[in-house]
Amino acid sequence: MMMTILKHLEQHPGVNPEPFSSVVTSVCDEHIVLDSTAYYPMGGGQPGDRGNIESDSFTCTVVDVRKKGEVRHIIADSEGTLKPGDNIRCTIDAEWRNQLSAMHTAQHLVSALANEEWGADTVGNQIGFDKTRIDLQFENRDIFDRDSLSQMVNDAIAKDMEVMMDFRPSAELIDDPLVRINMDRMPPNIDVWRTISIGDLDVCPCAGTHVLRTSMIPEVEITRVKSKGAGRLRVEYILNN
Ligand SMILES: [Zn+2]
Repeated sequence: MMMTILKHLEQHPGVNPEPFSSVVTSVCDEHIVLDSTAYYPMGGGQPGDRGNIESDSFTCTVVDVRKKGEVRHIIADSEGTLKPGDNIRCTIDAEWRNQLSAMHTAQHLVSALANEEWGADTVGNQIGFDKTRIDLQFENRDIFDRDSLSQMVNDAIAKDMEVMMDFRPSAELIDDPLVRINMDRMPPNIDVWRTISIGDLDVCPCAGTHVLRTSMIPEVEITRVKSKGAGRLRVEYILNN
């Protein structure tokens, strides 16, 4: 199986993705595999990218991107013919990517601030175009306060903190007090992590797409908080673009 080079990992910020060229390694009615791609494949709670692929003899839309060993660009509305070895031009839907990058960066803020304020651990998340949900696990969830979380997140946005991406060794992350996740629960076979740092608030290993500064996130409005069992709350938010 061919390993597709994931170019989004080298790119930051993740907004306004540039068109790119690539070469087809395999194609069927449902999906296309490329030798390299800048499309984001679904993962870490963030949906896959959308967009368009074309060659001199072929066009299609990309409706999702999934990593199943290989990286599959799930296609629809294809016209013409395409075969392995063909050169193609790819466009990523910027409206989709930009909104998900803002939603995703907001998720880092919500998770970090809930951890900072109440010691909550993020145990799940689903980032969406319209709304995002984060599951928080508390020792005592009665101390959680929705209005103060909302205030803290929007204050962090207004602080205009830089969102930085770099690659850091595991040993360094284990010793960094700003890393809030338990590195023991991360796959042990990875020595160097793509790391996202937000000002002096948070450091997190992450393969997703993000904005460049927190001020690029619209106002976060928490729309719902509901119980998900002992000590656990699901927080939902939207962005007031
Ligand atoms: Zn992230």
